[in-house]
Amino acid sequence: MWKKLLRLRHIAYQFVQIEISSGATTSFWLDNWSLLEKLIELTGEGGCIALGISLDTTVEKAVQIYRNRLHRVPVFRQIEQEVINLRNRGMNNLQDVCLWKKENGDFKSEFVTSQTWNLVRSHSPKVTWSKGIWFSEATPKFAFLAWLATRNRLATGDRVLNWNPMAITTCWLCKEEMKTRNHIYFECAYSREVRSNVIGNLMGDVCLYQWDRVLKAMVDGRREKHVTFLLRYSFQAIIHMLWLERNTRRVGEASQPPGCIVARLDKLVRNRVTSLRKRDGAKYERAMEVWFGRGR
Ligand SMILES: [Zn+2]
Repeated sequence: MWKKLLRLRHIAYQFVQIEISSGATTSFWLDNWSLLEKLIELTGEGGCIALGISLDTTVEKAVQIYRNRLHRVPVFRQIEQEVINLRNRGMNNLQDVCLWKKENGDFKSEFVTSQTWNLVRSHSPKVTWSKGIWFSEATPKFAFLAWLATRNRLATGDRVLNWNPMAITTCWLCKEEMKTRNHIYFECAYSREVRSNVIGNLMGDVCLYQWDRVLKAMVDGRREKHVTFLLRYSFQAIIHMLWLERNTRRVGEASQPPGCIVARLDKLVRNRVTSLRKRDGAKYERAMEVWFGRGR
């Protein structure tokens, strides 16, 4: 783990800059304090000899000991100028500050994970369903599984066949048919019973039988916001619970009838609404009413 992290140093390095005050805690050659960036990469270890500054020297020490040498090589003259600039500016007794790169390219003292992640990741066009999967009230493990299912990346029978032709592909929930994502979540009799009892009439007249239609319903802004929240949350909880039940059966543990799963899901959603009410008060008062009144 640590070795893997250490191998990423060259990536992390580009997001860090040192603001020099005393220079006492900053490496002259190895830290990113100069406008020229990491000095050792400009000169190699030969630079240490040419400039008379050893590899373990701090910026503070380098400024104190450096003597002008009238270099002919441009890069040495540039480094020399950096040292002279610091000497002219004057050092103080304050701690050097580590700065982190922001999305706009500026360097600031506070580290923000989301900004660094946005700088590291490769960007793709925003998908239309993102709000339906990633919403503020979501439970991360449910949202993550829903995201995997949306991308059709769950280890369903049809996909497992690609790498294991001997795999069992029948559905663990109903023991019938080829197990695909659409089967597990829409066509399977077991999951249909769970789904219709949990969701009730929250969807109105819209039938749940296709993944893209469900995703569309999750981002449809025409419903009351509490209904949209309950729909999104309960659907993700269903995805998670059905997958859990499938895995339980797969390893030979006792199965649960649909009624048990429905009761667990009902409790799970109510608990989530209760915790949101404690956090945000009146904002979720109506959600519990809507949940109890959804019918079955
Ligand atoms: Zn099935």
